[in-house]
Amino acid sequence: MILQDNLRPVVPYVPGEQPRDNNVIKLNTNENPYPPSKKVLDALGSIGNDSFRKYPDPEVGSLIDALADYHRVDRKKVFVGVGSDDVLAMCFLTFFNSGREVLFPDISYAFYKVWADLFKINYREVPVSENFEIDPKDYMAENGGMVFPNPNAPTGLALSLDEIESIVKANADNLVIVDEAYIDFGGETALPLVDRYDNLIVTRTFSKSRSMAGMRIGYCIGNEKLISVLNSVKFSYNSYTMSDLAIKTGIASIEDDDYFSRIVKKIVETRESTKKELKALGFTYPDSSSNFIFAKHSELDAEELFNSLKENKIFVRHFNAPRIKDYLRITIGTEREMERLISFLREYIR
Ligand code: PMP
Repeated sequence: MILQDNLRPVVPYVPGEQPRDNNVIKLNTNENPYPPSKKVLDALGSIGNDSFRKYPDPEVGSLIDALADYHRVDRKKVFVGVGSDDVLAMCFLTFFNSGREVLFPDISYAFYKVWADLFKINYREVPVSENFEIDPKDYMAENGGMVFPNPNAPTGLALSLDEIESIVKANADNLVIVDEAYIDFGGETALPLVDRYDNLIVTRTFSKSRSMAGMRIGYCIGNEKLISVLNSVKFSYNSYTMSDLAIKTGIASIEDDDYFSRIVKKIVETRESTKKELKALGFTYPDSSSNFIFAKHSELDAEELFNSLKENKIFVRHFNAPRIKDYLRITIGTEREMERLISFLREYIR
């Protein structure tokens, strides 16, 4: 091809399958099985012509105010984007420019590596232990910044707040991004550290605990200087990131804390009962603090099981990657969905 030398070489992230068939048990992309708050659906009623005709608020001011109130932080510490993928990508672009290696775990969210490659960022994947644990000491070596999810994905394992603080403290001159996509399901948030450390950014999403993956809302909280640079980069790239629909429904979700707590609690209960069932069937798994379980069975081939589940309209996630190819990542669905999964597995194992 004539333009070959001009192309940006990329190996894209492969998202979990979104089947067109609605009649499947979908446990493959860590979505929430419950609907969003009724207030979110009510907010749709307030969407009029103007939300379509006019550009949305480039500052996303009203959603930022709602998030700042909710987390009791100054609004200058909040940045909003189109899902946390957008927020994380903006962070990579903004903060990882030293040329030194950016660190992230080798078993983690696969998009980190993709952004690093896309933006030509030097990076090193830090091996997690045999039990998939992150060792904070590994993140105290020379680096150009770091990112890790807490709880980690796809393992579900969480670091304690003390461990996270030890990492942030040891990296005064490097940015630490804690990706809290799953924090509402377990683990301790690093948000209280934001006031004490100016090298920390915590990212969050509405996609999992708030049942709003389809609206694409993510945000991060950090020191106001960091957020200000992040905004400069965002406004150098795309001013109108959030639709009015996303802004209004996002605010409505934050306003219904009761419902939010209820569905999160329900998912956590279902997770714990599913763990027991899986264990009884001979599966092992790291002890997940998230809305998924990363399970393996010593006698079953994970890929074959994945395919059989799929043939039976139960979608889970299998990663064909070296250290984790024997595992399936199973999102926690409704109680009924998990019962269907368990009864399928029972038959399959017999
Ligand atoms: N971080 C982690 C660890 C994730 O698993 C995901 C979901 N794929 C995201 C970030 C991004 O989620 P979203 O863009 O929907 O906010």
